[in-house]
Amino acid sequence: MERTLVLLKPDAVQRGLVGTIIARFESKGLKIVGLKARTFERSLLEKHYEVHKERPFYGNLVDFMSSGPVCAMALEGKDAIAVVRTLVGKTNAREAAPGTIRGDYGMSFSNNLVHASDAEDTAKFELGLWFSDAGELSDWTPADLEWR
Ligand code: ADP
Ligand code: MG
Repeated sequence: MERTLVLLKPDAVQRGLVGTIIARFESKGLKIVGLKARTFERSLLEKHYEVHKERPFYGNLVDFMSSGPVCAMALEGKDAIAVVRTLVGKTNAREAAPGTIRGDYGMSFSNNLVHASDAEDTAKFELGLWFSDAGELSDWTPADLEWR
């Protein structure tokens, strides 16, 4: 089993798409093991996007991500990192394929609704940043769903 971090960005919250997007992950069979929503500190977003620090869009990205509520969740499943990236689609929402979340709901490169961890090491780093393993993540077994 793998865990990955997903953030529903402020545009998803502002547009009332939180339920719709979470439903896509749940319907696919991914398990929510952590979930919280609020406006997060700029310093957290700076650390989260540290890898992009030298990129021209970094400042705007951190401003945007700390501008309003974000819904952060930890999802679990087999190959969850890759499965979630596939569901989310290409970074530029205008180029993302229909059927993907960005492809179905987005028209923007920067305001592209969702963040999803892109590899095992980044998932570990990001989950540690956003959730405390002790109190905020739950291990649970769905009843009668052995096929997961
Ligand atoms: P992804 O979120 O698909 O993993 P990246 O890690 O490359 O994409 O970039 C992080 C985020 O930075 C993107 O989701 C998007 O919001 C923003 N971003 C990336 N590239 C650009 C760009 N060229 N112009 C504006 N915003 C960008
Ligand atoms: Mg990325």
